[in-house]
Amino acid sequence: MTMTPHVTTVRSLDPCPTAGVSGPATQGLLPLASRSDGLVGSVIDSSTSLLAAQTHDIVRFAMGAPAAEVIPTEEFRRIAGEILTDASFTYGATEGEPDLIDTVVNHFSDSASDPERIVITSGGMQGLDLAFKLFVDPGDLVVVESPTYTNGSGTALSYGADVLEVPVDDDGMDVDALETLVADTGRTPRMIYTIPNFQNPSGTTLSESRRRRLLDLAHTWGAMILDDDPYGELRFSGDPVPGFRELSPDDPLVFSVRTFSKILAPGLRVGWVDADPRLRELLIAGKQAMDTCANVPAQHIVAEYIARGGYDEHLAGLRTEYKRRKEAMDASIAAHLGDRVRTTDPDGGFFLWVTLQGDDARVPSSRLFEIALAEGVAFIPGPALSPSGRFQDAFRLCFASSTPERIEEGLQRLVRALDIARGE
Ligand code: PMP
Repeated sequence: MTMTPHVTTVRSLDPCPTAGVSGPATQGLLPLASRSDGLVGSVIDSSTSLLAAQTHDIVRFAMGAPAAEVIPTEEFRRIAGEILTDASFTYGATEGEPDLIDTVVNHFSDSASDPERIVITSGGMQGLDLAFKLFVDPGDLVVVESPTYTNGSGTALSYGADVLEVPVDDDGMDVDALETLVADTGRTPRMIYTIPNFQNPSGTTLSESRRRRLLDLAHTWGAMILDDDPYGELRFSGDPVPGFRELSPDDPLVFSVRTFSKILAPGLRVGWVDADPRLRELLIAGKQAMDTCANVPAQHIVAEYIARGGYDEHLAGLRTEYKRRKEAMDASIAAHLGDRVRTTDPDGGFFLWVTLQGDDARVPSSRLFEIALAEGVAFIPGPALSPSGRFQDAFRLCFASSTPERIEEGLQRLVRALDIARGE
């Protein structure tokens, strides 16, 4: 991986695939704020509409969404019928419904015992938005993993941050490279954005020694660690690694973003932040300016589902199923692609990162995507997962949303697409 420090800003984005959504089509027509030019959309999210518009059968390795068959929809429907009252449909407290805050404090191991640390959000995305809103001024340096979840880095860019990409290897963000690259910029980062467990998109986990180093660096720089961990509960192999909260209890520089999207259902749009209690009023003010409160019926459904005791069994079921799917994907990749690719080996979560080898690496993954879509299989091309559009030789596969049979079908289609692309 390249070690040149590369700082991405909104101004340098065009014609990057994640570039702003306003553009020339609206310029001059409407009195848009200049800020709208810096809004960075999501290639990942846009793939949902792109796929929905296709009429042929597609194996979906693109979106990071739990499969419909693992979402406890029956139980949600029953709970909704039993517990929702007229009062459930009015405005709730901005910080969240008390029953859900209690649930978070009592059931999620790395969450603090202090309910004042918890603010319920509309999914993990709102937690990320609040973090950048509170801590990042235009022109501030924000460190991100490379590759990264570009909805997160895109939000930082939308707030005017300069984004520095730091390579990821099998142990997560390379902290030696981080120090060197930061030193080369001559600047001090304001925030380090990391996805420590089963990272989106690489599937790798940040080792304990690197977590400790990251905490030290954050203290040296006075930088926030934005600890975005939607997948940590979904470990299906290997030993757990202590979280930032465990390694540095009550650390004001750690801002943790969590969500029920991957462990229950993304359509609920319920998540939480766990942060220094002195930030509570600011978080509430920031959230009031966005959505007043998170979806009230959804918060009660989640709290009641967990109170009824089904969650542990549900989670155990998810871990077993995702392990089975990940192993199925490994087997299909080995059978159909063999040493034409190198893949990461996640111990949990949703994603594998695939890097093309040899002559196959000359096929740009964005072109491979077009052919693969026509052949009936979808993934996220590498450049969509890097603010500066790196990784044309790589792509992200989600193993969580498809059954082993569909995974096998998808890999057969993918190798067909690769052969077609090679022949062009
Ligand atoms: N962070 C990461 C790393 C994610 O993968 C996702 C979802 N894809 C989110 C945040 C956003 O979560 P939510 O859907 O709850 O907003």
